[in-house]
Amino acid sequence: MNDTLLNIENLSVNYGDFIAVEDASLAVEEGQIISLIGLNGAGKTTLVSSVMGLTKQKSGKVYFNGSDISNLPTDKIVARGLSLIPQGGRCFNRMSVQDNLLMGSFPKSARKGAKETLSHIYELFPVLKDKMRDPAGSLSGGQRQMVAIGRALMARPKCLIFDEISLGLSPSVIKDIYNCIKMINETDKTAVILIEQDTQRALKMSDVFYVMLKGKTVLSGKSADVDADSLKEAYFGM
Ligand code: ATP
Repeated sequence: MNDTLLNIENLSVNYGDFIAVEDASLAVEEGQIISLIGLNGAGKTTLVSSVMGLTKQKSGKVYFNGSDISNLPTDKIVARGLSLIPQGGRCFNRMSVQDNLLMGSFPKSARKGAKETLSHIYELFPVLKDKMRDPAGSLSGGQRQMVAIGRALMARPKCLIFDEISLGLSPSVIKDIYNCIKMINETDKTAVILIEQDTQRALKMSDVFYVMLKGKTVLSGKSADVDADSLKEAYFGM
């Protein structure tokens, strides 16, 4: 049986004449945690942003849950169950925490159970319940990341993509956020793609890893079986 949830096949993305992603392929099975690692500028953000329909794909295909989602508009992709938490989280700072979260329930499929999903998010992040009426802009960086995660969860995704969630956060907040990601993965069977600068943390968290270098996916394998020399070679292109 093929349980592949997300299949990226030979994807290429250009910015003008510059090739940012070239022939990249990646597969995520249902309920799996994947880490996507690589140097700054390797093309990780471009890859996931083009999968989400935020950056135009030049060639290749993206399949999600059995359907071709290549170059679909982002709202249609989110409605099918794929969500991205972008770098820096990005909240609507003047809106309350609760309104920020409710913004995530725009897909028709998510609206019906929005109240239950909201309670589930408050269980996951009790601090957001305490601050539900506060403007999101008054929260700490870590709490704003929680709002961004909660907002993505409101769409009840089958797969969540985190783009450098730990950037700028203290070690203890990073630990809390990663514990929550584990919980989301374990309780809801949500598949996860982690773009992470800290290679050791990424490998520790994930079932499978992918390395990108100069726009290409150059190495992948089971995180538990990673060979340090091959990883170094792929990561730095030696
Ligand atoms: P980082 O960890 O720094 O975010 P990354 O692996 O996510 O790196 P990208 O942000 O996808 O890499 O960038 C890939 C390449 O594309 C880089 O050389 C970057 O300068 C370039 N790039 C990214 N966005 C644009 C853009 N909007 N226009 C032109 N070039 C871009």
